[in-house]
Amino acid sequence: MPKTISDLLNAPRLVVKVGSSLLVDPTGAVRTRWLARFAEDIRDLKRKGQDIVIVSSGAIALGAARLHLDKGGRGSLADAQAAASVGQIGLASLWSEMLGAHGLVAAQLLVTLSDLEDRRRYLNAAATLARLLDADAIPVINENDSIATEEIRFGDNDRLAARVAQVAQAQAVALLSDVDGLYDGDPRAENSRLIPLVERVTPEIMEMAVPGIGSGIGSGGMASKLEAAQIADRAGIPLAIINGTHEAPLSRAASDARGTIFAAQRGARARQVWLGGRLAPAGTLIVDAGCATALADGASVLAAGITGIEGEFRRGDLVVIVDANGRRMAQGLAEYGAQECRTIMGLSQAQQAARLGYAPRAAVVHRDHMVLL
Ligand code: GLU
Repeated sequence: MPKTISDLLNAPRLVVKVGSSLLVDPTGAVRTRWLARFAEDIRDLKRKGQDIVIVSSGAIALGAARLHLDKGGRGSLADAQAAASVGQIGLASLWSEMLGAHGLVAAQLLVTLSDLEDRRRYLNAAATLARLLDADAIPVINENDSIATEEIRFGDNDRLAARVAQVAQAQAVALLSDVDGLYDGDPRAENSRLIPLVERVTPEIMEMAVPGIGSGIGSGGMASKLEAAQIADRAGIPLAIINGTHEAPLSRAASDARGTIFAAQRGARARQVWLGGRLAPAGTLIVDAGCATALADGASVLAAGITGIEGEFRRGDLVVIVDANGRRMAQGLAEYGAQECRTIMGLSQAQQAARLGYAPRAAVVHRDHMVLL
């Protein structure tokens, strides 16, 4: 668990959330200088070999200015959706340009809440992110505001960032705020103190979110940041709130050691609970001795090692993996439905391609989506 802001920002895979008010000024103009300095921060982290995922707001704010909508484009859902669809184009090209100036490749992903709740779509998003990061691109993610309806919106990118960290298998999340972190009172008051470490997001901590503090044009104040911290905690991922208003905020927060760290107590166990806990497996994969040994060493389940399949399951369903003696070894999310699994079991990658008529996935159950029992 990271002890300092600098440790946390050094995570091999880091999600950074940038809010609207950092990117767009109250007149709707892009804060180009800030963005250019932030891009330098990202370049420096990439040089150290870190994978970076950016969750970027700003579409609604940008689009509202371009369409001359009042209330920052948040007067109605229809306004927000129209503003987002105009603003997102600008936002994507901004990131592409700013990161491109350092030879970095930006990749856009727009997601809705239901994309990440449905396990099949969750797996697809995870696979796309993994591939992008593997190819050294920088995913820039926003909510698909133009089509997400009120009931199924994240509504704020703080919580989205925490969910994205889970999908991306990140080890840390940094939320850029307009204050230094969580205070035990109103951050503007003299006697309020910054809380450097929160062990647990308790109801008392939740009460520390002072209404009205937080950016004027975004939607996330401290309350949504604390909700994000809760989600990250449940997923076993530490999260920090740092001040984003400075130039080059990541290097600055690391050197100042200033911000609030939310320690994720549960660690890997949380993921296990999430993967295995409440869900009843929909099927069983029986694997041979070679596969069983490889599994215990942290490998994925490949079709070649499967000798039998029980149950009817769909891609994304939870399956249990047992050895030849029926001993439960692991459980995880199936990359194929039962029918396709039956078609490819026992086959090498090349044989699978011939049988399926398309390039097979890397595994039947990928180790990233599996826990050993
Ligand atoms: N997705 C929204 C946008 O791009 C921002 C949500 C938020 O303010 O957190 O404008």
